[in-house]
Amino acid sequence: MPVELLGKSQQELREWMASLGEPAYRGAQVYHALYAERRFDFAAMTNLPAALHERLKRQAAITLPAVARKYQSADGAVRYLLPLGPQPAAAGGSEAPPTRRATVEAVFMPSEGRQTICISTQAGCAVDCKYCLTATLGLVRNLSAGEIVGQVLVALEDNRERLAPRTNVVLMGQGEPLLNYDATMAAVRILLDPNALALSPRHVTLSTSGIVPGIERLAKEKVRPKLAVSLNASNDSERDALMPINRKYPIAALLEACRRYPLRPWERLTFEYVLLGGVNDSADDARRVARLVGGLRAKVNLIPWNPGVPQSGMPYAPPTPAAIEEFRSILAEKQVPVFVRYSRGQDIFAACGQLAVIESGIETHA
Ligand code: SF4
Repeated sequence: MPVELLGKSQQELREWMASLGEPAYRGAQVYHALYAERRFDFAAMTNLPAALHERLKRQAAITLPAVARKYQSADGAVRYLLPLGPQPAAAGGSEAPPTRRATVEAVFMPSEGRQTICISTQAGCAVDCKYCLTATLGLVRNLSAGEIVGQVLVALEDNRERLAPRTNVVLMGQGEPLLNYDATMAAVRILLDPNALALSPRHVTLSTSGIVPGIERLAKEKVRPKLAVSLNASNDSERDALMPINRKYPIAALLEACRRYPLRPWERLTFEYVLLGGVNDSADDARRVARLVGGLRAKVNLIPWNPGVPQSGMPYAPPTPAAIEEFRSILAEKQVPVFVRYSRGQDIFAACGQLAVIESGIETHA
């Protein structure tokens, strides 16, 4: 069985190469060719001798996620539907038993001077946020580090001709990254490594529903992305209803973890707040949010809810333009940095989980 190399760290590739009886530095050369030069064919790894090409062809594989469908938005965004194979084997183990088909999505969004790539860390999700279509899938399975980093590589390759100098990556697709911590962080280290994809930590953002132990663990990492927290409510009863995870990690505990989070000098936290018309978008909500986040070095992104799939059955409505503006101006008056973000690619169902739900044919709850 060939060994899958995508997702391996430099150290793992060095050790694997040494286990073949090759010099360990060959592992570092494969690492550079794979992630920095984005060469996925051993024959194209010109830094390796020809005899090693042949050996790698027999004994190793580089498997990028396959693109089952590609949707092009009028605004330039491209959405990829990526069916994944069986759960990759854990080191030394055999393949996990087959589960439901795992399909994830990645989105490429070009803009002036940069592209932003949104990737998934799990197929489906167990967190059950009530406004999110991915939640209707439940957790199908965790992604491996290779499957996570592979989404970025697929999006970069497919848009090779039009890449801008800067790449942003947001871990905001399907799944809760902090509930697939090890694979997510292995992928993030490859994204941020100057010898691999060499993205800046300022340009990689992990978004969490508020898994407090995960935030505490992330706080101790030497190499880490920026942190965004989905707040989405201004008090516990409202948040319990929208995000049941709040019963486990209520707002006070979440904000305490945020207060203790060691921000780098250039960094601030992001709080994401999906505005649901008539649910969490009142002026009182805005005043409470300002009080909650007021003492933190943080900004708030207001995201007007995108109904996405027609007849999704979700009991929510987009906020009115007046409610969005009132919410925004209350936060701004209280000196909280605030931005209104509209979802890109609405014509291609670019909100989290929408394509996978459509493709899986799952019934969404009414
Ligand atoms: S919003 Fe994110 S954490 Fe919540 S159910 Fe959807 S994918 Fe999971």
